[in-house]
Amino acid sequence: MTDDAATAEKPTTTPQTDDGVGDRQAPDKSPRTANQGDDKVTRRAEVSNLEIVHHYFDRAADRLEIADDIRAVLLSAYREVQVQVPVKLADGRIHVYSGYRVQHNGARGPYKGGMRYHPEVDLDEVRALASLMTWKTAIVNIPFGGAKGGINCPADKLETDELQKITRSFMSKIDKVLGPTRDIPAPDVNTNAQVMAWMMDEYGKTHGHTPACVTGKPIALEGSYGRESATGRGLVYMFREAAPQLGLKAEDTRVVIQGFGNVGAWAARIMQELGCRIVGISDANGSLHSEKGIDAAALHEHLRDGGTSNDFEGEGVESISAEELMELECEVFIPAALGGMIHADNADRLKCKLVIEGANSPTTPKADEILNDKGIFLIPDVMANAGGVVVSYFEWVQNLQHFRWDEREVNDKLGGIMRRAYRQVKERCADGVPPRVAAYEVGIERVVEAAQTRGYI
Ligand code: NAD
Repeated sequence: MTDDAATAEKPTTTPQTDDGVGDRQAPDKSPRTANQGDDKVTRRAEVSNLEIVHHYFDRAADRLEIADDIRAVLLSAYREVQVQVPVKLADGRIHVYSGYRVQHNGARGPYKGGMRYHPEVDLDEVRALASLMTWKTAIVNIPFGGAKGGINCPADKLETDELQKITRSFMSKIDKVLGPTRDIPAPDVNTNAQVMAWMMDEYGKTHGHTPACVTGKPIALEGSYGRESATGRGLVYMFREAAPQLGLKAEDTRVVIQGFGNVGAWAARIMQELGCRIVGISDANGSLHSEKGIDAAALHEHLRDGGTSNDFEGEGVESISAEELMELECEVFIPAALGGMIHADNADRLKCKLVIEGANSPTTPKADEILNDKGIFLIPDVMANAGGVVVSYFEWVQNLQHFRWDEREVNDKLGGIMRRAYRQVKERCADGVPPRVAAYEVGIERVVEAAQTRGYI
């Protein structure tokens, strides 16, 4: 690591915003397109993911009495890369997108984190998601640091060959800071195994065939069995750990899932296999409710075959508004869409016993307090949704050995790591510390120890 971090600003105490966080880094407040729709989608908080992550970091760092100079290192990123991605699209015009890769902290190993394609991607959001990865990899104790990247392109409106051009152009500009022992990207919102395959191929043009340079690849290109389902499956391992202490049995458990993409759809299907009833589901097109239970596997097939959530039919299934979805009586609520979806204006409406955060930063600090006051038990993103990066770690290990594990082995090993993380964090909660603070404490301690032992700080 270089001495970039030494120039970071010293944290100062600043007034709290409406959503309960300080304004230390003057975060980007660019309008969030998700807030401009009708009542079909949940409006997101006007608080940035960076503010959210820094707030939670500060709470744990205060309890750990981390000195200001060390905090400054941990709050800023080691390296931030922003590149221009000009691409000639099907309309014949050149469109210029911005591509980002932020490497937050590499004390515990190579940087690791997803690539997000979304018009709202900006440097602040990527910074926030990169630092979340640092704490996440430390909490589940896998040998990686934290990174994140993305392009501010409207992936859902682009043709496949346009996406390929954008991906290759981006990769060719940032490959120097990547590699199996440096930084290993993975899929995130609107990127998938195909995008990872293009990235690997582009990287290989300069560096030779290197499957371990990205994870989340297709099975045909040394991807790992179980990677696609890993984040959703990890959420279910969290449910299984928390259920006994909350007196929940799968067959009596009603589940609401906000966001039916990769994470939400897998979590829904596996929860359903466990015997839970999925009473509410939403995506960017609308929200569904059925007291009898929505067949998550049938809905997944319906969407895969080109249907939308609005035209899905099932026993007792009715369309509801996004706000009504958040008011459904249930035992478990899983936010699995985007950040800032549970905020000061809607947290009070949740009627569940347990929130398992599938999305990154779905809950603002103010909402976190409200849920805590309501006695809702919350398993935080930095632990709950780590299943994806854990199986990415398995994929990297398999790639380095050019050896493949079967799906059962992957799922069993994932279960072992998720259970261990849950129990280690739970031990920290013994004196009434909320799981989110306890999880950050575990992560921060491990990163500080690694950085100090290396002699970096
Ligand atoms: P995805 O693009 O596959 O799915 C996102 C889903 O959210 C889609 O169904 C979309 O329609 C829905 N959505 C978008 N806006 C919405 C709104 N306003 N209301 C309701 N639904 C809305 O993405 P994903 O990979 O499933 O990721 C979801 C979240 O989980 C993100 O926050 C991501 O960072 C996080 N995450 C993903 C992984 C992973 O392995 N994919 C790992 C860790 C965390």
